[in-house]
Amino acid sequence: MPEDTQTEDVETFAFQAEIAQLMSLIINTFYSNKEIFLRELISNSSDALDKIRYESLTDPSRLETGKELHIRIELDKNDRSLTITDTGIGMTKADLVNNLGTIAKSGTKAFMEALQAGADISMIGQFGVGFYSAYLVADRVVVTSKHNDDEQYTWESAAGGSFTIKQDRGQPLQRGTKIILYLKEDQIEYLEERRIKEVVKKHSQFIGYPIKLLVEKEREKAVPDDEDDEKEGKESEEDKSATTDEKPIVEDIGAEDDADSSTVKAKKTKTIKVKYTEDEELNKTKPLWTRNPDDISEEEYGEFYRSLTNDWEDHLATKHFSVEGQLEFRALLFVPRRAPFDLFENRKQKNKIKLYVRRVFIMDNCEDLIPEWLNFVCGVVDSEDLPLNISREMLQQNKILKVIRKHLVKKALELFEELNEDKDSFKKFYENFSKNIKLGIHEDSTNRKKLSELLRFYTSASGDEMSTLKDYVSRMKESQKQIYYITGENRDAVANSAFVERVKKRGFEIVYMIDPIDEYCIQQLKEYDGKPLISVTKEGLEFPEDDEEKKKAEEQKQKLENLCKVMKDILDKRVEKVVVSNRLVTSPCCIVTSQYGWTANMERIMKAQALRDTSTMGYMAAKKHLEINPDHSIIENLRQKADADKNDKSVKDLVMLLFETALLASGFNLEDPGVHAGRIYRMIGLGLGIDEEDTGAPVDDFNPMDDMPPLEGDEEDMSRMEEVD
Ligand code: ADP
Ligand code: MG
Repeated sequence: MPEDTQTEDVETFAFQAEIAQLMSLIINTFYSNKEIFLRELISNSSDALDKIRYESLTDPSRLETGKELHIRIELDKNDRSLTITDTGIGMTKADLVNNLGTIAKSGTKAFMEALQAGADISMIGQFGVGFYSAYLVADRVVVTSKHNDDEQYTWESAAGGSFTIKQDRGQPLQRGTKIILYLKEDQIEYLEERRIKEVVKKHSQFIGYPIKLLVEKEREKAVPDDEDDEKEGKESEEDKSATTDEKPIVEDIGAEDDADSSTVKAKKTKTIKVKYTEDEELNKTKPLWTRNPDDISEEEYGEFYRSLTNDWEDHLATKHFSVEGQLEFRALLFVPRRAPFDLFENRKQKNKIKLYVRRVFIMDNCEDLIPEWLNFVCGVVDSEDLPLNISREMLQQNKILKVIRKHLVKKALELFEELNEDKDSFKKFYENFSKNIKLGIHEDSTNRKKLSELLRFYTSASGDEMSTLKDYVSRMKESQKQIYYITGENRDAVANSAFVERVKKRGFEIVYMIDPIDEYCIQQLKEYDGKPLISVTKEGLEFPEDDEEKKKAEEQKQKLENLCKVMKDILDKRVEKVVVSNRLVTSPCCIVTSQYGWTANMERIMKAQALRDTSTMGYMAAKKHLEINPDHSIIENLRQKADADKNDKSVKDLVMLLFETALLASGFNLEDPGVHAGRIYRMIGLGLGIDEEDTGAPVDDFNPMDDMPPLEGDEEDMSRMEEVD
């Protein structure tokens, strides 16, 4: 405890605005399940102990300030305080200022939003702001901490928007953190040993360091009886002061019997009850993963999972296994029920596997232990073979770790396959983690096939239930050799697109890929069950055709050869080529993309990601092909005009308008929507028989109709148009 007599520098800091808001929310919200504060503070202590242990692996001298790693709880009814001390890494002055109040975390706001949406306060730990749960039960919190690299400092706050920091010259901690909670008047239940034991058992029994509670005990003690002229009445008073045993214990059982019979006054000793204090370890359970799976109940797995992850719900599925032989390890994996709020938020993906070596915790987030796409799987791995003093650097080249990783991936896949057997569980799993599965398909070529069995999509025939690719294949027509798919923004957009019409009309089913990550997934998933996956928006879409159809297609191609050439000349670099389509029914034309470039959807996604590096945009941007519908009257009309006079001015104008409209309909954005709008307004004007100047539309470079009189300076305008696009 800092001594009040010292008048050294006390610095006052304001809490970061959102943190202040969160604290007042915690203090003022009516909430009965306050006990979780203890779980949060113990979890922080456990993290701090993990950190010093990890540091000491490469630099054992870091433990010179105390080798014993533990957490200790003390209760003091006199000043209504609960104290949690750990011998963890501690915090420097800067750590105290930054970690406990001034640096905003994304979780602060996210947690408050979650609360507003009906979340429970006990979820606080998942949002990375668990420390502030101390204010559920305390109105003043004092944190004293000693880090190896700094002096001892004390942080203190009674909320209200600010905290203070001062150097602490009180009782030295050696190393670690001491948190004193001055409990609110109505929270004195947390001064009861029984209550603390209950809460620790419930929430923290699987913490990997001893949690000790300083308990008051009583034992019987024989004391000389000769000066005792008064009777039992005084004994209780005497007990209170006897917190330490100064007098020798006389273990004379016979004497006790005699002392009871107070009528006999011949004996020299009597037995009294003496109080003393002692550390009691509250979490003596063996590490769960070392036990036989047959002896572990679902509840125990649930509790272990919750204490491992700070989750408030049980896991969705678990896999507990051991590997023996050349290499030996045990592992316990869990799939959570929900994706964390920041699963794909930060670039630095953290995984949730804890690495142990022969029961000793080594590190969190060991990157080489599990691939990134499995970063939602939580659990522990306990190796018999790795050296205890292994560092992150050493792990990178470690062969043992590579083998463990392989096993973990295999077992995780087994777990997903098991989940796949239960429809409801799998649905939940897929809703939360389909992105991970798709990322896995993109990254893990060895397991791609297995993972593709887990995929689910809406299709043109699936209705409201998603369909597996296997189901799709079972519905394929006999003549069908390929799986057709379309990517796009949402179900409606793709279902109504021009690309889908012909394919559907021919009776084929189309897979709707409407998750942005599908674009990445599909780059790698080229086939399923021996059937190539074909995008209906890319070039080279072919359908099984009979001879007659083939003949007809060939004739049409020849007939439209000239028009295609004329159109390509007009559109120039805007498209790679102009070809006759066999995929269109009601639209005159569409834009498809080349086999290897981006699709319209991908171009949209990439633009949305605000890729600063515009060079990638250049060469990856969708290579566009204009496909024209040979059966459409607009195209037939154009063909006649172009065949009659390839320099017909109106053909140029109409081709540009067709092209821009097709871009929009095919899911692309226009570079300059204003120019397109101008053309449309003029068309409307013409349709209404209004003179061009009166439409109010910007006069641009096009004659949408062939019977329009030529504009002045038309040639000049045409060349300017080239630059605009
Ligand atoms: P989280 O534990 O998710 O990071 P908290 O709000 O629980 O969020 O804790 C905030 C930070 O304060 C921790 O990340 C840690 O840096 C620091 N901290 C809290 N308690 C301790 C402790 N007992 N020892 C060392 N550092 C601590
Ligand atoms: Mg925490």
